[in-house]
Amino acid sequence: MAKVGFVSLGCPKALVDSENILTQLKTEGYSVVNDYSNAELVIINTCGFIDSAITESLDAIGEAMLENGKVIVTGCLGAKSDLIQSKYPNLLGITGPHATLEVMNLVHKNLEKPAHNPYIDLLPAQGVKLTPKHYAYLKISEGCNNTCTFCIIPDMRGKLDSYSIDKVLIQAENLVKSGCKELLVISQDTSAYGVDLKYKTSFYNGRPIKTKMLDLCNELGRLGVWVRLHYVYPYPHVDNIIPLMAENKILPYLDIPFQHASTNILKAMKRPANVDNILERLKKWRQICPDLSIRSTFIVGFPGETEADFQELLDFLTEAQLEKVGCFKYSNVDGAKANELPNKVPEELKDDRYHRFMQHQLNISKNKLTNKIGKEIPVIVDEISKKYIIARTKYDAPEIDGLVYIKNNGKNNITVGNIVNAKIISSKNYDLFANLS
Ligand code: SF4
Repeated sequence: MAKVGFVSLGCPKALVDSENILTQLKTEGYSVVNDYSNAELVIINTCGFIDSAITESLDAIGEAMLENGKVIVTGCLGAKSDLIQSKYPNLLGITGPHATLEVMNLVHKNLEKPAHNPYIDLLPAQGVKLTPKHYAYLKISEGCNNTCTFCIIPDMRGKLDSYSIDKVLIQAENLVKSGCKELLVISQDTSAYGVDLKYKTSFYNGRPIKTKMLDLCNELGRLGVWVRLHYVYPYPHVDNIIPLMAENKILPYLDIPFQHASTNILKAMKRPANVDNILERLKKWRQICPDLSIRSTFIVGFPGETEADFQELLDFLTEAQLEKVGCFKYSNVDGAKANELPNKVPEELKDDRYHRFMQHQLNISKNKLTNKIGKEIPVIVDEISKKYIIARTKYDAPEIDGLVYIKNNGKNNITVGNIVNAKIISSKNYDLFANLS
């Protein structure tokens, strides 16, 4: 059987591209192997977001060239084909991101297509997943219409290109049929879903449905699994999603990458939905859905960030009381407009602000977790070890948020993907400890 090696780097959006290519390879009867020496060619899905990711991708290409010598490069870094070609002139081909068809054309050119065998080539309904079976990323669009000055994703991935709602819902339904218990909705800008298609109406199960965020959430809410929204910008229409969370149709969780809170910095970043009244909105959302958990990421040390701007950010954290927060120190990204901004923040000051930020938020997170002690909450099981059943609450996304550790007494029938009730008994900085209830 024709054997293809595959290396997947980058963010969840790149992961979905990998899944699409792997699905297609398997559909056509190729076998996917883990080692270079056994493979007849190697595909590398690269990331080009920040300098360290570019280096990692270039290193992976170098390794594959050395070990195998027949390499196809795809993904975000593929948009910089000159850079790749100058280092590795003998590649079989280079494509940009979300290019399953072009990648498959390159595969066909270099490796004979296996004869189809319906007995061994049958795919499970959900295709090939790189995530565990009980949760899956559901990508609803490609690209982005925004122009954030620190980001080159729109240059790499192009303008917003939403998948029509019927296709997204069919994919979601297939995932659920194959045992998926949690859908993680992803895109560069989930709130903008359907804008490019003018909210086109499609038919799903014989019903007309608009390609629109609210309709998507309503429909996903009918599937009977956990539905979690990532990369949501607080455009006004997001207000309409909060009641669905209060009614338990989708999880009371919003991943909103605020990036900063100072008006000056947000302007310099050219962030979308840079609204003055965000604190008021958060308050209103929490009145409608008191259970709401908000995750966000922030950048400290953006060019021009003064001590007053940074203080504004800390004050925002105090006021907003966000449940989960991540922080990055600003660094230039090759090709980004922000590189030309004046008043760069010195590295030591970035470090100092990063640590002050993390400490400030740690106190907030600790408090939030302490308030959960004594409560009984449903958790989804991610992993089972001899000592612990490791799970997550509905307030925690996989990979990025906290965990719940439940002592495993071995006297239960719990398996990965089960949703069980746990009584919280204690908390640490970001994680909870619980007993089965
Ligand atoms: S919203 Fe901004 S940061 Fe996010 S992908 Fe679009 S341009 Fe980049």
